[in-house]
Amino acid sequence: MAGSGKPAITIMEDTAKEKKEGYILVVEGPPSTSANGLFCTVGEKGERRVTVVERLVELAKGASAVVCIGQCTCFGGIPDAHPNPGGYKGVSEVLKAERIPTPVINIPGCPAHPDWFIGTVASILLYGLPKPEELDDYLRPKAYFGKLVHENCERRSYFDEGKFAKKFGDEGCLWELGCKGPVTYCHCPDSWWNSRSNWCVRAGNPCCGCTQPEFPDRFAPLYERLLDQRLPNVAQKGEE
Ligand code: SF4
Repeated sequence: MAGSGKPAITIMEDTAKEKKEGYILVVEGPPSTSANGLFCTVGEKGERRVTVVERLVELAKGASAVVCIGQCTCFGGIPDAHPNPGGYKGVSEVLKAERIPTPVINIPGCPAHPDWFIGTVASILLYGLPKPEELDDYLRPKAYFGKLVHENCERRSYFDEGKFAKKFGDEGCLWELGCKGPVTYCHCPDSWWNSRSNWCVRAGNPCCGCTQPEFPDRFAPLYERLLDQRLPNVAQKGEE
């Protein structure tokens, strides 16, 4: 939305009132549920601040679909990392608790890739809402989240050979430096980033798993190998 402040709030409220045939609600940022939601508010009604949860409920009811953009919007992300004092939650969790049946489409990532978002919105405009079989268990479009990073990774041949980087800048697979690619579904190896300049693993940085619901708690510390994940041909810590 190009506007901000009152014009933006007015457009949002008018759209919800006038578009009886439905609209797509795009949400960016996680709803906060602690302190009566006052950690994050969006505009006011009279003197009263309106919480994100209240806005979400109000706008999601009449929407044809809710598209969540970014890891924290979809799953809570870094704001809901332990101990989560703000009570942050993913949008689908809040809508479920409020018994709002509007379909949700999750485009996670920290940040979400613009192509994944625009591609999803364009697909809705051209072909309608995705069919259930086109989304995975976490409501992510399989077109962008159907394959593991590890399946398409350009360092995969190093992994298969057992050649692992021991420090940043080394040639080799980044598994021992904390790569979460073997448990992370996303399109990064194909999409790349910044107008196809590069992507994390190509730049020598392990995949941090930012499109997975368990990010970041299960994946911390980011630069340490996952201890609870067995992989073929890789010994667990203590077994080497
Ligand atoms: Fe690529 Fe990471 Fe898999 Fe290694 S562990 S092949 S760096 S995705």
